[in-house]
Amino acid sequence: ENRIKTVIVCVNDNSNINRSRFVSVEHFMSSVVNSGIGLSSAVFAFDTKGELNDKVGGGYKGGFPSCVVKPDLSTFSIVPYLPNTARVIGDVYDSFGNLIEYTPRNVLKKVISLYKKEGITIRGAFEYEFFIFEKNNDLLKPIYNSIQCYSEVHEPVLIDIIQDIMNNLSAIGAGPEIANTEYASGQLEITNSPFYGVEIADMASYYKMTIKEIVKNKNLIATFMAKPKARQNGSGAHLHISFYDEDGNNLFSGNNFPDGLSDMCHHFIAGQLKHANGLCGLVNPTVNSYKRLEEYRFAPTSISWGYEHRGAMIRVPFARNQNTRIENKLPGSDTNPYITLAAVLAAGLDGIKNKIQSPNSCNGDTTYENYYERFPTTLIDAISQLKKDTYFKNIMGEEFINQYILLREYEWNRYMKHVSDWEISEYLEQI
Ligand code: GLU
Ligand code: MG
Ligand code: MG
Repeated sequence: ENRIKTVIVCVNDNSNINRSRFVSVEHFMSSVVNSGIGLSSAVFAFDTKGELNDKVGGGYKGGFPSCVVKPDLSTFSIVPYLPNTARVIGDVYDSFGNLIEYTPRNVLKKVISLYKKEGITIRGAFEYEFFIFEKNNDLLKPIYNSIQCYSEVHEPVLIDIIQDIMNNLSAIGAGPEIANTEYASGQLEITNSPFYGVEIADMASYYKMTIKEIVKNKNLIATFMAKPKARQNGSGAHLHISFYDEDGNNLFSGNNFPDGLSDMCHHFIAGQLKHANGLCGLVNPTVNSYKRLEEYRFAPTSISWGYEHRGAMIRVPFARNQNTRIENKLPGSDTNPYITLAAVLAAGLDGIKNKIQSPNSCNGDTTYENYYERFPTTLIDAISQLKKDTYFKNIMGEEFINQYILLREYEWNRYMKHVSDWEISEYLEQI
C-alpha cells in the first residue's frame, strides 16, 4: 500500500544510540521478518561518542559475536517524511536463540513482567523538551530568542516546524498533543498522548528520531542534550506514570487519604525516593546531564516530592480519579527511555512490595540548602551511588548494570582528559 522499498530495523543500545540496518523490502519479507538479522554485539560496547569499551560484553577476547535482531512487528511504522521507508524496532537474541538480557528494551520488558504478575498495567508518557539551533561556524544560534515560557514568539519559521513535526508524529501514531515554547531561547516542548508498557519507550524513541530527522531536513539541529546552553534552562524528559488494574481502574486513585492518592501511589513514590541516588545515575546518563540539575531552573536538585510542586523530583499533578498520575522530573532529555522507564518502575516496585512509607511532601523551596538531600552533582558521583545500590542489579540484571557502569565510567574518564575552554579562560593568564 505504501510502496515500501526499505525497512529500517533498529535497536536501542546502552548509550542511547539507535543502531539500525537498512533492509530491502524483498529481503525483509523473505527472511528478516521471520529469522531476524545479524548485528555485531560490539554495538552495545560503544559510549555516546562511539568509543569502544572493550571490557564490555567479553571484549575482544569474546570476539564480539553476532547477535540476532528479531523485528517486533507491533512497532512497525511507515516513516512518513522519508520516501518509501518503514521502520521497525527489534529484540535482541544470541545466535542460539536466547534472549540477550542486557539490552535496554529487554531489561524494560523484564521489569514490566514483574508488574504484570501483580496484575498492574502501566500507562505513561515522556514529556520531552528540546532545542532547535542553526549552526553557523560551530556557533549555535537558537531559532527564536525569548526566555519567556509559552510566549507566542513572532517567528514565522516556528509554526512551520511545529506543524511539520506534529503532522508527522500523528502519521506514525505518536499522538502529539500540545506544543509550546519553553523557558530558554530556541527551546520547545511537544507532548504526546500516553501509551502502555514497552510502547511508552518505543514511542519515545520514534518521537526523538522523527523530530531530529525532520528538523535536519530543514538544515537545522534538534538536540535532546540536557544542557546545551549555560545559564539557561536545560531540557527535561519528565516521565508521567499511572497504574491500572485489569478492569481499567486507576490504582493511584484512593479515597482513604485526603489527597486522593492510594497507598500504592504513596509506596510507589517512596520507592523512587529511597533509590533516588542510584536512579539518578540511570536516568541521567551523560556528563552534561548534571549541568541541567541546577537550582531554580525547574529541574529538580533534591530528593523530594510534592503536590503540584515544579521544584520537586516527583510532582503529583492535580488530576485525580481515573487520571491520577505522578510525574518524575529527574530524567533529562538525554536519557534512554527504555532504561529510564525500567529504572523508575524498578525503584517504585521496592516501595510497593515493601510498603515503604512516603516522607512528608515538600512545601516551599526544595533546594538542598532547605533541608532536602541533594542528589549527585556529577556523572561519576551518580555512578558510584549506583554501584552502592545493589537493588538495581537484582531487578534489572547484573550484566546490564555492570555494562552500563563500565560505559559511563569510560565516558567520564574521556571527559576528565579533556581541557575545556572554561579552564583556559579561567587559568591561562591568571595563574
Ligand atoms: N526545563 C525544565 C527541566 O529541565 C522543566 C521545565 C518545566 O517544568 O516544564 O526539567
Ligand atoms: Mg516543560
Ligand atoms: Mg513536566
